[in-house]
Amino acid sequence: PTTVSVGQLAKLLNVRLRTLQRKMEEAGMQAEMSYDYVLTSDYAALLAEEFGRHPIINDEAAFDLYPPSPHPNPQTLPSRPPIVTIMGHVDHGKTTLLDTLRSSTVAASEAGGITQHIGAFCVPVKTGSDSESTIEGHERLITFLDTPGHAAFSAMRARGTSVTDIVVLVVAADDGVMPQTLEVVELVRREKERGKIGMVVAINKVDKPEADAEKTKLALLAAGVLLEEHGGDVPCIEVSGLTGKGLADLVETLAVMADVMDLRAEQDCPTVGCVLESRIHKGLGPVATVLVTRGTLTPGTPLLAGTSSCSTRRLLSSSAHPLNSVGPGTPVLVTGWKSLPSAGDEVLASSEADIKRARANRQRKRELESVIGGVEAINAARKADKE
Ligand code: GDP
Ligand code: MG
Repeated sequence: PTTVSVGQLAKLLNVRLRTLQRKMEEAGMQAEMSYDYVLTSDYAALLAEEFGRHPIINDEAAFDLYPPSPHPNPQTLPSRPPIVTIMGHVDHGKTTLLDTLRSSTVAASEAGGITQHIGAFCVPVKTGSDSESTIEGHERLITFLDTPGHAAFSAMRARGTSVTDIVVLVVAADDGVMPQTLEVVELVRREKERGKIGMVVAINKVDKPEADAEKTKLALLAAGVLLEEHGGDVPCIEVSGLTGKGLADLVETLAVMADVMDLRAEQDCPTVGCVLESRIHKGLGPVATVLVTRGTLTPGTPLLAGTSSCSTRRLLSSSAHPLNSVGPGTPVLVTGWKSLPSAGDEVLASSEADIKRARANRQRKRELESVIGGVEAINAARKADKE
């Protein structure tokens, strides 16, 4: 690792020694301020950043993984399943709707095993009453994600890397438009400004005697949601997650929207994805549900998410079936993590050696950040004391 003296650093940064020393004083580095004091590369880098520079003090310090660059001809890439996120006010029936969708779409042989709710799954869906709508005889797949608002989605939103293609806004017809309904409307509006995202409204619980679908639709209109029946472009379907009414219509609508969006992703590149959720599983150890967004994930692939590395041991489908490979647009349970990654973390594949270096580098950055945080806190406290 390279080192640099205070005097040299001032020259490198093209600032006066006194100016650098003043910064060091502010950062609580009084003991290291002399002209010939030799700084570690970490401190030198931190100080350089104070002057708006990001010096590469040595290669190791600068090393990180980056996703492969975008494909030059996206129109030529293979299609991928749409990622549909179910959102809406609490208790409006998101989980119930997903569970019904899931148990009505998975093969009968698998259905027996489904007792617990699963937050992310990819299912083949039947669309249209004739076989013509199944393009080229392919099975049509849709990926469903439950209830964002949890950590993964806030983290992805903060980074501007939303993975959702279509939001299904669930509104219970007996309860109508509620605060979290409006939050979703606002969120979709903001996402739309950034790129393409679709929205479908599912007026839910229409089986209930007190359900008032018309009133709910008018409240949505008042909230600025332009439904198709009001001359807008947002499809609206009346459903019951409990009885299954309208769910076939909902799926059909999603399939048509996905076709129009023409979603494609590269399959032959290093895997990119994101962590949807993670937990310690008795027996399997740390596991994470990863949504693959690019590339094809196979067992044995070394992965990095935040500072957690993984030597992908097993890939399990949402019905616990082992998979040999997982393509874009598909969520999968990944085992083999050395520590628990965080929801929302970006997942990248690379060589074992590169991952080791990137991980060490990220860890060091994290430690340094906590040092800076500490110094800043001390300075703030000192300042407050003086005042
Ligand atoms: P979430 O908080 O949006 O995930 O809502 P849940 O799926 O947990 O549902 C909340 C409550 O509403 C539960 O008691 C469900 O049984 C009930 N529920 C959900 N969907 C329906 C529906 O379509 N009809 C009726 N009658 N009840 C429903
Ligand atoms: Mg729920």
